[in-house]
Amino acid sequence: MSTLFLRTLRDDPADAEVPSHKLLVRGGYVRRLAPGIYSWMPLGLAVLGKVEQIVREEMASIGGQEVHFPALVPREIFETSGRWSDYGDTLFRLQDRRGVGYLLAPTHEELFTLLVKGEYSSYKDYPLVLFQIQTKYRDEARPRAGILRGREFIMKDSYSFDLTDDGLATSYQAHRDAYERIFTRLGFDYRIVFAVSGAMGGSASEEFLAPTPSGEDTFVQCENCDYAANTEAVEIQRPQVEDASGTPPQQVLDTPDTPTIDTLVERLNTLGLGRVFTAADTLKNVVLKTRAPGGDWELLVVGVPGDREVDLKRLAGQLEPVEVAQADADDLAAAPALVKGYIGPQVLAKAMIRYLVDPLVVEGSSWVTGANEHDRHAAFVTRGRDFTPDGEIGAVEIRDGDRCPKCGASLMIARGIELGHVFQLGQKYAKAFGLTALGPDGKPVTVTMGSYGVGVSRAVAAIVEQTYDDKGLCWPRSIAPADVHLVATIKDEAVYAAASVLAEELEANAVSVLFDDRWAISPGVKFKDAELLGVPTIVVVGKTYAEGQLEVRDRRSGESRQLPVAGAAAAIIAAVRG
Ligand code: ATP
Ligand code: MG
Repeated sequence: MSTLFLRTLRDDPADAEVPSHKLLVRGGYVRRLAPGIYSWMPLGLAVLGKVEQIVREEMASIGGQEVHFPALVPREIFETSGRWSDYGDTLFRLQDRRGVGYLLAPTHEELFTLLVKGEYSSYKDYPLVLFQIQTKYRDEARPRAGILRGREFIMKDSYSFDLTDDGLATSYQAHRDAYERIFTRLGFDYRIVFAVSGAMGGSASEEFLAPTPSGEDTFVQCENCDYAANTEAVEIQRPQVEDASGTPPQQVLDTPDTPTIDTLVERLNTLGLGRVFTAADTLKNVVLKTRAPGGDWELLVVGVPGDREVDLKRLAGQLEPVEVAQADADDLAAAPALVKGYIGPQVLAKAMIRYLVDPLVVEGSSWVTGANEHDRHAAFVTRGRDFTPDGEIGAVEIRDGDRCPKCGASLMIARGIELGHVFQLGQKYAKAFGLTALGPDGKPVTVTMGSYGVGVSRAVAAIVEQTYDDKGLCWPRSIAPADVHLVATIKDEAVYAAASVLAEELEANAVSVLFDDRWAISPGVKFKDAELLGVPTIVVVGKTYAEGQLEVRDRRSGESRQLPVAGAAAAIIAAVRG
């Protein structure tokens, strides 16, 4: 370490919000150049290289072949796929000296599709899996979490090319299995969550998430079974259909000055309707608008129980590529049937306004809702009798305790970091670029693709989030920058010589050593650095050397033992190899 290009810091960097950011900077693994843009120092690069190696090995194990694309890509290619505009502000756009447009690629579906199209033409060429480990560029809106969300970052992206849906399903499964091996080898506690809801019949899309409080993604997991989904894709169990035969006819109530659900509930409970009402007994109708690609905005009213919020992101995930937004005052003014604060579904069909309800508004259920007149609500308004929605859509914001769609147990909300994504793309890019293969009958077949990403640089920070402790980093052995952190603590030539011999012996046995041979640095500082840097095994040659002993300490558990110097190498090698 006396010559290692490394300076550790005692204090957290001022701009750091999450533990991985603080510790990777303090440990001298990375340095920030600009928001979301980082340089990798020698120790950081060592970890990054190990992550890449594991990813490479597992990609090779499923027959993936490595290629490497430029990051600098002509604009035209992304215009063909539509992503020059779809990517919005997230895309880094630039021009060359002749004014020709380029971009720094945020991902490479287009280029892989074009490359395969250029080389392959027959059905006999397929299936195929290609991958690269490459730098991506995204002008993220809030690059706040260090290398967890960079504007320049390293991704492994791979793509499968098949001729049939079954082939795609097989390639997808192979990737999914490889990802399980990757994240296990990297030392992650991870969950595989649905990224599109099964109810919408979307093609398979799953995310690998690392649960951690600092994660930017919210997901839902069942406390009982293996169901897990991100909050955009989650489904919750439908309540039983209700029998409305005994429900009284709907009754219009005078409810002046009850613009909010709370004031309405308060009023309801003074009306002597023979029961106690809560917000959950009211039906809230939220006015939104949707726009299909190339179409105009259309109003959409969504009905949810009054104690629940509408989750726009969840709706958007299901409606894609149709856009959805909150309706504004102008939209409302153009629809006189909608009486603000008193909207009920009873009139929507007649007014030709599309109405969807959350599945919690079950067939036969009855509600207090707006009577579509100022200052009036109606009670006992019953689905299937007094109104019939145009359909159902999972619209409520999920909360702890909602029911699992698979087993009915409680769902819990947690935060996580997206480590990877496996996605059955289908024919979107093959169609856009005309990637076909000549079938055995001489007819062209459009290729079907899968797209699979791993956040390689993000993984380095994400594993820190799951493993750090109050002293510093705590690397899993598979990706630690070294196997052993060897510290010589006493200013004594004999101690340094013994430590140096040990280092050589370990290295000769393929155990990598970070040797703290800094003569002028105090033992206290050396110990603190060893803890901060997080190499899994710490070996100390110092105080007890005179008695022929050295200390071996496990960074994570803190357990330490004394070993005789003679024969210590063999014991350390055994410990390192586990
Ligand atoms: P996110 O939702 O976190 O923005 P994404 O869904 O846009 O990610 P993908 O396009 O699926 O990401 O990219 C594949 C993988 O690349 C992600 O699973 C993630 O691990 C990683 N990744 C995406 N954006 C970044 C980023 N800005 N910095 C670091 N890694 C990233
Ligand atoms: Mg994703």
